[in-house]
Amino acid sequence: MYNLHCHSLLSDGELLPSELAVHYAAAGYKVIAITDHVDYSNIASTVKAILEFTRHWPKNRKIIVLPGIELTHLPPEQFQPLAKYARKEGIKVIIGHGETLVEPVIPGTNRAALEADIDILAHPGLISEAETKLAKKKGIFLELTSRQGHRDTNAHVAEQALKLGARLILNHDSHRPEDIISPQDLINLGLRAGLSQKEIDKIYRQVRIFIHSRPENRTI
Ligand SMILES: [Zn+2]
Ligand SMILES: [Zn+2]
Repeated sequence: MYNLHCHSLLSDGELLPSELAVHYAAAGYKVIAITDHVDYSNIASTVKAILEFTRHWPKNRKIIVLPGIELTHLPPEQFQPLAKYARKEGIKVIIGHGETLVEPVIPGTNRAALEADIDILAHPGLISEAETKLAKKKGIFLELTSRQGHRDTNAHVAEQALKLGARLILNHDSHRPEDIISPQDLINLGLRAGLSQKEIDKIYRQVRIFIHSRPENRTI
């Protein structure tokens, strides 16, 4: 049980990283990534803070916390340098804030994010076939989200990914305690987007492999 997209007080979330971890553990989750919004103004301080937190989070706690960031509303040419910086510093989960229909995201953002070293393209809106193929080629997860507004295109994203063979991920994009839905509700979100239980099982297997892809996380 995982959620690799949530926001803390390090950006526009309501909870401290430790509060987030405790809330998610209580809701039945085993792994989360804290992925606060960043651009050039705050990437250095946010990366430093989240790494400081995750390095000190006890390994024996009920929940594993991975360090992440979400590259948000960047001019498209900034995705590559900022993703590179975060990766070099040790960030494990790099999200690109995709072309959701409910915010004025710069056109070309999906493609620029997919061309950079990201792991997840969040709420990619009406993602095109060419962008979906690029996600497949690079092994980048396309996100189905429970977040209001962003979730309106889940069925489109799921359909494109299934048709063209790109990987999907189910995430919350939580900002407040009320956004933390149960693991079963997250699975139901996938079913509502048109996935079968078998396809959802495959998502969980692929996410597990991704989470285990660094030696320090292999004890999960
Ligand atoms: Zn936010
Ligand atoms: Zn987000």
